[in-house]
Amino acid sequence: FVEMFVGMGASKVRDLFKQAKEKAPCIVFIDEIDAIGRSRDSKYGGGNEEREQTLNQLLSEMDGFDSSKGILILGATNRPEILDKALLRPGRFDRRIIVDKPDLKGRVEILKVHSKDVKMDETVDLDAIALATSGAVGSDLANMINEAAINAVKEGREFVSQKDLFAAVEQVLVGKEKKDRIMSQEERRIVSYHEVGHALVSALQKDSEPVQKITIVPRTMGSLGYVMQVPEEEKYLQNKDELMTRLVTLVAGRAAEEIVFGRVTTGAANDIEKATKIAKAMITQYGMSDRFGLMNLSTVDDPYLNGNARLDCSDETAAQIDEEVKNMLKECYEEAKQLLTENRDVLDKIAHYLYDHETITGKEFMKIFREVKGLPEPTDTTGFTHSEKVAESVTFNEDGSYSSTLNGPSETDIWKGIGDVNTEKDDSCSIGESSQGEDSSNADHQSADVSDS
Ligand code: ZN
Repeated sequence: FVEMFVGMGASKVRDLFKQAKEKAPCIVFIDEIDAIGRSRDSKYGGGNEEREQTLNQLLSEMDGFDSSKGILILGATNRPEILDKALLRPGRFDRRIIVDKPDLKGRVEILKVHSKDVKMDETVDLDAIALATSGAVGSDLANMINEAAINAVKEGREFVSQKDLFAAVEQVLVGKEKKDRIMSQEERRIVSYHEVGHALVSALQKDSEPVQKITIVPRTMGSLGYVMQVPEEEKYLQNKDELMTRLVTLVAGRAAEEIVFGRVTTGAANDIEKATKIAKAMITQYGMSDRFGLMNLSTVDDPYLNGNARLDCSDETAAQIDEEVKNMLKECYEEAKQLLTENRDVLDKIAHYLYDHETITGKEFMKIFREVKGLPEPTDTTGFTHSEKVAESVTFNEDGSYSSTLNGPSETDIWKGIGDVNTEKDDSCSIGESSQGEDSSNADHQSADVSDS
């Protein structure tokens, strides 16, 4: 609507509503409505003459609206907080529908929509794909279907198979496997210890999510390896202990490097970034520090875009927050080092095994863990939590796909958190230059699961 000449937008709005009235019943849909509906307050960059006139016209058209005419107006935006308040008053846009990330059922339906015109063979099970993509949004899922189709075409097949889809899921979330990247033996050793550090510390703590897969095959999105963990179920709340466990797990990669090699690498950059965000959110948003108690110290400006928080306190308090974050992370790092030092034998054994095999399952991981610790193999799994059962049941096939002998209705989202790709997910621990991943500072909505690196 907005043009260079003042008044053009307003006349277009008039025209639009005139047409709508002629064609009623109809739906008027305005996408990215923040482009014209931005607040007139200069704080949000308002005050543009042409846009203001356009907005005023829109407001008056919506007022003079006869509800019996059968015209429905829909607007969409990622930034509802910057819309002009007048636009949201009753009688104008009076109902707000929040389109959140899809749940399991939603993902199945979205996959069906996007795969409608794609030829699939009988192995395809969209429910299984939906189960493996918790945290993914519509565009991720569309992308996965597309990648799967490309994979099939590349191999000269006419139909997409389940294997293509699984490969595409991993591709979209952590990048393609980069088998041709040659890493030196020393680097592979470091990455092995780093990843096993994450996995082992996670396994040694309460409140952690069972390890599903550990790999040191580099990915095109920059990670050199990652640890995938399974949450017990789709969670909407996290308690302080779980967050602390995640922090200790996140810094454990670096801790393993320091203990084993006596020096540290750049591989922990992504872990450190994530851990700092979580620690900061705990202190400034969730009221989880003794020092500041229940005081809210930061605000999130645009929860639907990047969700980054901005400190909202005096400079002096900001300095104290930094101090508190530093102490919290230091404490977690010491704990991770202590856990790894006490279990050095297990760490060595699993890291060597991973070095030789490149990718190991949670089952193999737990088997070695129990062997070294002298624990009996569990014969009775009835006491297991759902995610422990899943971790025990997964088999990785040669082609890179995996299957589980367990058919649970529960939404096990082994991928959630990668990348935080929406990751809401965010517990990913990464090594490597990658800093992909969704922002995980909103940890209350995210359950961490994959430690990607
Ligand atoms: Zn890491």
